[in-house]
Formats: sequence, C-alpha cells, structure tokens
Amino acid sequence: MNNFGTRELDVVVIGAGQAGLSAAYHLRRSGLEPDRDFVVLDHAPRPGGAWQFRWPSLTYGKVHGMHSLPGMELTGADGSRPSSEVIGAYFEAYERRFDLRVHRPVEVKAVRDDEGGSGAVPKPGSDAAPEAGRRGGRLLVESSEGTYATRALINATGTWDRPFWPLYPGQETFRGRQLHTAGYPGPAEFAGLRVVVVGGGASGTQHLMEIAEVAAGTYWVTRRPPVFREGPFGEDQGRAAVAMVEERVRQGLPPQSVVSVTGLPLNDAVRRAREAGVLDRLPMFERITPDGVAWADGRTVEADVILWATGFRAAVDHLAPLKLREPGGGIRVEDTRAVRDERVHLVGYGPSASTIGANRAGRAAVRSVDRLLSGVPA
Ligand SMILES: Cc1cc2nc3c(=O)[nH]c(=O)nc-3n(C[C@H](O)[C@H](O)[C@H](O)COP(=O)(O)OP(=O)(O)OC[C@H]3O[C@@H](n4cnc5c(N)ncnc54)[C@H](O)[C@@H]3O)c2cc1C
Repeated sequence: MNNFGTRELDVVVIGAGQAGLSAAYHLRRSGLEPDRDFVVLDHAPRPGGAWQFRWPSLTYGKVHGMHSLPGMELTGADGSRPSSEVIGAYFEAYERRFDLRVHRPVEVKAVRDDEGGSGAVPKPGSDAAPEAGRRGGRLLVESSEGTYATRALINATGTWDRPFWPLYPGQETFRGRQLHTAGYPGPAEFAGLRVVVVGGGASGTQHLMEIAEVAAGTYWVTRRPPVFREGPFGEDQGRAAVAMVEERVRQGLPPQSVVSVTGLPLNDAVRRAREAGVLDRLPMFERITPDGVAWADGRTVEADVILWATGFRAAVDHLAPLKLREPGGGIRVEDTRAVRDERVHLVGYGPSASTIGANRAGRAAVRSVDRLLSGVPA
C-alpha cells in the first residue's frame, strides 16, 4: 500500500460488501473507470464483506434469501460449505469479472467537508450541523492509504463492525465468558457448559440450536416474546417490513434491522428445536451476577457463558465530522441520499440492509450520483 497524499476523484465507495460491490458495478456501467474516476476501499483482508467473518457452522445451506449481485448469478454452490467460503469466493470472482479493483485492506478513518476547497458551500457557523442539502465542493476521505478529495461518496460499511452489547447491572462481575455474535466461534467451544443466549433474532435461534446439541444446558432470554412465522415470507410482508424501517430512517431515527421485523421462519429445524424445548424463551433478566443471571422475582440461573445475540448498529462513525445525525440519533436518508449532505449516499443502511436491498440501493445511489456529477438538481 503506498501513501499518495491527496488524490481527486469523482466517487469514493467505502465498503466492498454486497452494497458496495453493487454500487461499483453500476458505476462501471455508467462509464466511470476504477482508479481513474472512482475507488472502492475496504478494510477487511479478503473479498466477501461481512460474510468472511461469519462462523464456520453457518453453512451456505443455512442462509436464507441471499440474492446474487447484479450481473452475475451465484449458482451451484454446495450448501454444506461455510457461507464465508462460498460467498467469499463468489465476491472475489465478481470483483475480477467486472474489474472493480477494490483497495484492501484500507481503513477509512474520517470523512470531512473540504471547507477550504474550491466550490465548497459556505456555512454560517462552522460547528453547526448543516440545515439541509449541502451539495457543492469536495469531501475529504481520510484513509490509511492517503486522502481522497471526492465529489460524491457512497458509504457501504454495513453493520458488522459495530456489534451492539446492551448494558446490564453486574455485567462486569460475571466470572464466566461473555461474547457477541460477532465473535461466535461455532458450537464446539461450549461443550459441557451452561450457556445463556440473549436476543430474539435469527442469529440467537441459530446459536441456540447448535449449542444445545453439545452444551450442559441452554437458556434463551429475549426482551419481547419471539414471533415465529409459518410459511414462506411473502412479498407483501417484505415490503411492509422495509417500509417500516424506511419510515424510521425518514424521521431521522436509528434504523431497525429489516430482519428483526420480519419474524423468525418456522422451518423443520426450528420446529424440532421448539418441540425439544430448546426455544422455550425466558423474559429479560434484571441483572448479571458473578455466577449467572437473576430476575426481579428472585429466580436465578447459573451460567458459564453469556452469548449476546443482540444485533448490530450502522458502522458510520467515520462520517461523524459531517454532522449528519438528527436529534433522534439516526441519519435522515431519502432514497439513498443523506438529507443533510447530498454528496453522501448510504447503501445497505436501514431499509436497504439486506442482500436484495443492498443491490437496489447500489443502483439507486449511482443514479443519484450521476445526477449530482452532471449538475442536475436532486
Ligand atoms: C448472521 C447474519 C446472517 C445474515 N443472513 C442474511 C440472509 O440470509 N439474507 C440476507 O438478505 N441478508 C442477510 N443478512 C444481512 C446481510 O448480510 C446484509 O444485509 C448484507 O450482506 C450487508 O451487505 P453490506 O454491503 O451492507 O455490508 P457488509 O457485508 O458488512 O460490508 C461492509 C464492508 O465495509 C467495510 N468497512 C466497514 N467500515 C469500514 C471503514 N471504516 N473503512 C473501510 N472499510 C470499511 C467492511 O470491511 C465490509 O467489507 C445477514 C446478516 C447477518 C449478521
């Protein structure tokens, strides 16, 4: 990796997961050339986006509803292989086929407004958040290989880098092991142990079903009673779930995961686990003790491990200097455009945080960037 000082480009894409690669594909189709007009930067060591870090027992066969990237189908994959390998190899072939030239590992540390640069829109008090629609001038993308001065940014950094750990009283006193889905190594390490799994989403149920096979005991704790969904997930339900998250983002609230509002699919494995009592759920505990967890009514459970399957938040800390957040804590986005800065597009964020959503957002962001670069009003 060579450090080049500052380079000017039309577009920088941060992140080479599903959303970033979809954007890069559409940038190429719109006539832009990698390394001349745009770059894709990713801090992970290999192709695959967040999939490369998912636990080995999450085989490709266990992944539901993975959509291929635009322009190249993923076909004939062996369902018994880890999804990290299958999708990693697919993304690698995709990057090669479309010559996307992803720069990796390159960390983006911060994105700032080039206020001193030519064409920057003057702002009334430099510390104040922009009211709406900053548009002109360049953005400075500070990365581990140097600074890019870009006219548009497509942020596709996903959520994997920001695991969410809720805080409970007594957490620091626990003598056992605590870990998050982001560090889940597969079930083998939990053989013979008593494990509390916290979280009512798909990851929590998958962890439980695996760990219950080898552990001395498992306990499932969720804030709300889980909702199991019979039959396939219809298009109407999908649209309704996406619309709900979209509305939150429009209001400037932190997005909820689309998957969290779709319910848990009731497949054969889940049915068997429910019959065996593995998915009998307990309400949220009140506090953590040195030996386990305790409820307000005096009940306690002794545990060796607490596994937090409590989800992720958008990994957008590097955008903080742009002050895009609303008082509600989220970034207001319309289509894929940040309302406070029209040069910034967020893909794979909120309503587009699924493989199909990421594909569509990549295309929509490139359309919007094309308009911005040619000076057409948004
Ligand atoms: C366990 C699990 C299972 C899932 N299963 C499904 C499923 O079956 N079907 C489905 O549709 N969706 C599924 N999802 C959701 C799905 O993974 C995502 O919606 C989609 O793949 C995310 O793509 P992305 O490009 O937005 O993010 P990611 O794949 O996370 O890519 C983001 C990229 O940005 C890079 N990056 C982040 N920060 C920086 C930075 N500061 N500088 C440089 N690079 C950076 C990362 O290295 C990463 O490569 C699942 C999610 C999880 C957690």
